[in-house]
Amino acid sequence: MKVCIVGGGASGMMAALLIAEKGHQIVLLEKNEKLGKKIYITGKGRCNLTNAVTGNEFLANVVNNAKFFMSSEIRFNSSDTMRVFEDLGVPLKIERGNRVFPESDKASDITRALERRLKLFNVDIRFDSEVREILVQDNVACGVKLSNGEIINSDAVIIATGGVTYPLTGSTGDGYKFAKSLGHKIIEPKPALASLIIKDDDIRCLAGLSLKNVKLFVKEKGKVIYTSPVGEMLFTGNGISGPIVLTTSSNINRFEPKNLKICIDFKPGLDDFALFNRIERDIVSLKAKQFSSLLEGLLPKSIAGIFAKRLNINLTKKVSQLSKEEREGLVKMLKSFELSLDKIDDFDHAVVTSGGVCVKEIKPKNMESKLVSKLYFIGEVLDVDALTGGFNLQIAFSTAASCASDF
Ligand SMILES: Cc1cc2nc3c(=O)[nH]c(=O)nc-3n(C[C@H](O)[C@H](O)[C@H](O)COP(=O)(O)OP(=O)(O)OC[C@H]3O[C@@H](n4cnc5c(N)ncnc54)[C@H](O)[C@@H]3O)c2cc1C
Repeated sequence: MKVCIVGGGASGMMAALLIAEKGHQIVLLEKNEKLGKKIYITGKGRCNLTNAVTGNEFLANVVNNAKFFMSSEIRFNSSDTMRVFEDLGVPLKIERGNRVFPESDKASDITRALERRLKLFNVDIRFDSEVREILVQDNVACGVKLSNGEIINSDAVIIATGGVTYPLTGSTGDGYKFAKSLGHKIIEPKPALASLIIKDDDIRCLAGLSLKNVKLFVKEKGKVIYTSPVGEMLFTGNGISGPIVLTTSSNINRFEPKNLKICIDFKPGLDDFALFNRIERDIVSLKAKQFSSLLEGLLPKSIAGIFAKRLNINLTKKVSQLSKEEREGLVKMLKSFELSLDKIDDFDHAVVTSGGVCVKEIKPKNMESKLVSKLYFIGEVLDVDALTGGFNLQIAFSTAASCASDF
């Protein structure tokens, strides 16, 4: 059987490898001058290629369409990915949070190992080959047309074109156009695992400040729609970023940003009552000291001034003179420091795309289109995305393996 694979990224290369191993003829079409351009920048150049957790833990990290992804995860999980790369001669190591990296800390080792094996299996790798159209006859995919007009006929077509983040790596959303032209529904692509751009000007002076052991929750018109885990975040020049912020972005990107308030809980370990009592005790021990001293015992110094302004309490006010309302107001702000969301950072800076080809029209067992026979979608082009930790590359590899099982 002759198979055209559109896109030589993580999913396209893995599909090419697993299908070529079965003796099929593969044409791998990549519009860049090299394979896996995005892989080079993954994991800050170290490539966090998977996460060595159990199936259920893995699925808990999939934000959209975990149920659809489940059969791919069962078929080809993180152990399978690790086995493939170790067989390819890439020793791996497991770090904090079960994140798996090449022992060399070089993402290039992952791409090169895949490329070497593809060449060994005589995969016809074509660089600078941009696919413009998917050819379909009698509702069966039968080839592709390149931007130079060349037509390549095949018995099946696999679309592995990625999402739309970091478009300089080649992921420019072409797969969505192909899918749409063939009648597929596209769930609107949104940036995920991205920083949040915040409207409030009073936090600009905090740029560079990082916070540990805080929690975020997000309100839409007063109703809490998401609560993050406790973790780290930091203030940037135009908003907030860091681990819990990235996780939050993936969970709120299908809401209208203008309706959302991002609230920081500076004291997630204490409920309102316990925090009020702690402040009462602080006030007793600080005696004649000023409000600034009370704040500095509770928060980084640079935030104290912003709290005082928002609470409309003078920093020089004696703690003993704080009214009950003022003390309650302080508790409320420590538990819910409200920021107005402008938007989630754009596709140029987001790590993954949420949205894409609607999975209701894709067969979960082999990634084949339910609308067009012998047409497959794998990797980030699908409406499946996950949190950081190696989960997104594993989605690319697992969906590639499900697709390969059909050949
Ligand atoms: C900065 C950054 C860091 C990341 N770090 C990690 C990490 O450490 N761990 C992790 O799990 N995930 C990470 N990710 C996410 C991960 O890289 C992606 O989810 C994954 O690469 C998706 O694989 P893919 O094969 O679906 O798409 P891609 O890797 O985007 O590959 C798609 C390929 O298709 C080609 N293409 C597109 N259109 C056409 C066309 N018309 N014709 C021919 N070729 C075409 C593109 O040039 C590209 O090479 C990171 C992402 C970014 C941006």
